Amino acid sequence: MTAELISGTDIRKEILAELKAEVEDMKAKTGKVPGLVTILVGSSPASISYVTLKVKTAISLGFHEIQDDQPDDISEADLLALIDKYNNDPDIHGILIQLPLPKHIDDKKVLNAINPDKDVDGFHPVNVGRLMIGGDEVLYPPCTPAGIQELIVRSGTETSGAEVVVVGRSNIVGKPIAIMMAQKGKGANSTVTIVHTRTKDLASHCKRADILIVAAGVPDLVKPEWIKPGSTVIDVGVNRVGMNEKTGKAILKGDVDFEAAKKICGKITPVPGGVGPMTITMLMKNTVRSAWKHIEGK
Ligand code: NAP
Repeated sequence: MTAELISGTDIRKEILAELKAEVEDMKAKTGKVPGLVTILVGSSPASISYVTLKVKTAISLGFHEIQDDQPDDISEADLLALIDKYNNDPDIHGILIQLPLPKHIDDKKVLNAINPDKDVDGFHPVNVGRLMIGGDEVLYPPCTPAGIQELIVRSGTETSGAEVVVVGRSNIVGKPIAIMMAQKGKGANSTVTIVHTRTKDLASHCKRADILIVAAGVPDLVKPEWIKPGSTVIDVGVNRVGMNEKTGKAILKGDVDFEAAKKICGKITPVPGGVGPMTITMLMKNTVRSAWKHIEGK
């Protein structure tokens, strides 16, 4: 038997169509649209390509989008002043700073200067605190974990009472998704275990997972014999394992031995095309949410 594929590419399309309709509705009702600014410092090719993708997606949804490019040698004080300007701009509902920043800038200071009500990445300590409290307190769930939860829910996986095992405890994936799955509410109510490099017997924990979420950054870390038959496997890992000589593009692999795992589990995300397409999608969702909040006080 082969597992059902959870396609992030298809689910992304579904969510973007919903968001586009919501933006049209917002415009018709209020005369306003979500406003998003993406601040790019310097000219790293990887950063430019991420920013371009975010900007293109925002424009395709009908957002008011500003790409604010700044030189490599911008001072920290000038960058903080720029953030302050957008914090006070009523037409901007989301502020993104593309990381990494040049070495002379303290990125923590810069990220913490964003008004938490416009922090659609969900990285500000205030938003991390809100995520911990849960329920109505949560304004902007961090985008990759929010994408993972959407994949689980939209693939029809039962989460209530499910054993969820999260491999990895990073601040951007492992810890937040573990908290989110353990909260009360739809797409959650799970019993969660977090495992990491100091865990004594990784295999034994993974084996009892009804939902296994792997965010370690180690190709093929999860072996087929660690997977519970019929379970849902979400592979967050993106590992460059070589180069396709014909296309010149990197060959990507996840943290799970996909070919072997799909013969055992019930549902699985591919790499690429699983979690990857969800992050920017959820960023757009957070920005629409922020726009409603700022425009109507919702
Ligand atoms: P990270 O900050 O490097 O954290 C990796 C975590 O995995 C750490 O907690 C580490 O444990 C744990 N780990 C590493 N090797 C392990 C092993 N052999 N056994 C058990 N635990 C192990 O990574 P991250 O930022 O969370 O990202 C993880 C992966 O997801 C990466 O491949 C990254 O590229 C990918 N990712 C994808 C997206 C996306 O698709 N949108 C977004 C973010 C990240 P310790 O804490 O003990 O060191």
